[in-house]
Amino acid sequence: MTRFPLPPNATIGLVGGGQLGRMSALAAARLGYRCHILTRETDSPAAQVSHGVTISDYSDPVSLRAFADGVDVISFEFENVSAEGLDLLASIRPVRPSPSVLRISQDRVEEKTFLNGAGVATAPWARVESRGELDEAVRRLGLPAVLKTTRLGYDGKGQATLRAVEDLDGAWDRLDPKPLVLEGFVDFAQEISVVVARGEDGDLSCFDTVENRHRDHILDLTLAPARISQAADQAARAIGCRVAEALDVVGLLAVEMFIDSGGNVLVNEIAPRPHNSGHWTIDACPASQFELHIRAIAGLALPPATRHSDAVMKNLIGPEGMALWPAALAEPGLIPHLYGKAAALPGRKMGHVTRLFPRGGLPGDFGVDAALAVLGG
Ligand code: AMP
Repeated sequence: MTRFPLPPNATIGLVGGGQLGRMSALAAARLGYRCHILTRETDSPAAQVSHGVTISDYSDPVSLRAFADGVDVISFEFENVSAEGLDLLASIRPVRPSPSVLRISQDRVEEKTFLNGAGVATAPWARVESRGELDEAVRRLGLPAVLKTTRLGYDGKGQATLRAVEDLDGAWDRLDPKPLVLEGFVDFAQEISVVVARGEDGDLSCFDTVENRHRDHILDLTLAPARISQAADQAARAIGCRVAEALDVVGLLAVEMFIDSGGNVLVNEIAPRPHNSGHWTIDACPASQFELHIRAIAGLALPPATRHSDAVMKNLIGPEGMALWPAALAEPGLIPHLYGKAAALPGRKMGHVTRLFPRGGLPGDFGVDAALAVLGG
């Protein structure tokens, strides 16, 4: 029987072996916990810094059972575990956030239905099961629009922007599995996100709203704090807290949002785990998103999610990102983070760098470019 708060030296089971697991495990180690990773990969970023690892498919019941038996609580950095796998894990040890939260975030239809039901605005959307339903949804939502798979999409994978009627056939044939979701195109002024931690007693700690810039659909830069109106900032935090409460999350919740041309805040998607747009918190906050994640799932008290500095975080992606690593190491003031991945495949997140500024001193775009000039644009 697991008792909370977890005592020192307890073992936290983390499903997924990527960089989010690695940074969670490093935070756990600082709090005196051990991590055991469940991953398909040998030599994964998370296992490199953890106490133990089970290398297995996420659906093998024998491995799932052995993994769960050997840990005190289970959490995730990878969300796409089958419903049966989640139920099996939860039958053996506490799973935080709960399987019901993961089920909602795994599926865009469930997610948007839940969000709209909780009074949270999204882009207008429609579930499309057939080619005929796609035509009908396009008539209703207009073009341009974005067609997405309901499951397993990330970093812009599994989606297509429809600009003209001629784009429909190709996108419909390419995107699988069905059903799909059609979203009205948001002509956004900014993309922002918040990361909220929620403890077992319902306490909330919400980090500052940040601004995100993407390149080829992958996060490139995060600016903390977001340079947005106070009203938009308050709306974004209120949405983050409302969604965390409505989902009854114990752990971390990241909410990605758009600010549209009218200043409205619309939710794009949610993730019940640490998030790339929260990496700046490692260097700019007394307690990072990873520490709050571990504290929440371990049943410890949550400190406030305050920042002592402003920050810019830049991802190092693929071979181009790795080529910048020597410059990142050589530049005073850039705080380097590398994830231990052997192969720098295109589009793969290899590491990131953070530059801090005095609180309130985040420069404008020109200053941000200058601060990262050594990394070339
Ligand atoms: P997603 O995989 O849903 O996070 O989308 C990846 C990126 O595609 C977002 O960060 C946006 O830049 C863009 N995008 C997604 N959905 C929309 C939309 N409905 N309207 C405009 N841009 C979108």
